[in-house]
Amino acid sequence: MRECIEEYPDEVKTHTALHVVKGAVVRVLGEEALWTASTYVSGKHGRLTVKFNRKLTPEEVKAIEELANKKVEEDLKIEVKILPRGEAERIYGNIIYDLFPIPGEIRELSIVIIYDTDGSIWNINACNKQHVKSTRCIGKIKLEKPRFRASKQLLEIPFNIES
Ligand SMILES: [Zn+2]
Repeated sequence: MRECIEEYPDEVKTHTALHVVKGAVVRVLGEEALWTASTYVSGKHGRLTVKFNRKLTPEEVKAIEELANKKVEEDLKIEVKILPRGEAERIYGNIIYDLFPIPGEIRELSIVIIYDTDGSIWNINACNKQHVKSTRCIGKIKLEKPRFRASKQLLEIPFNIES
């Protein structure tokens, strides 16, 4: 088993965990959970909020947590590509975006790609924050009980990292 040999601040690890958890959310819940509405990070605590239409079963929560941690253990590579905005959109499409818009005057995007073990894309997002170089460096991800806000059709998924 490979270990993370680099040191990162908690915020960087927790932020990177958002990308891994999002990949697991989409795999478990499907395309309806594709759009991120907001994210929050404080120390080792994070929260991913996606557009969704119902609350989750305990089995789904467990499946998301297990899948996210499987991807941590597999030590997936994280690559950051700086691309002109138009080119990034042509290559990857709208999937790079979240529900909160990137201002139109920003013409160059930092595209964060987590590659799965088979070379396919586990998660992709235009994001200008700092990330760890591979998922092992995040540490263990523990999901807290998600909250579904029916009036806004938002699913909040809080978690903590243990490292
Ligand atoms: Zn990011």
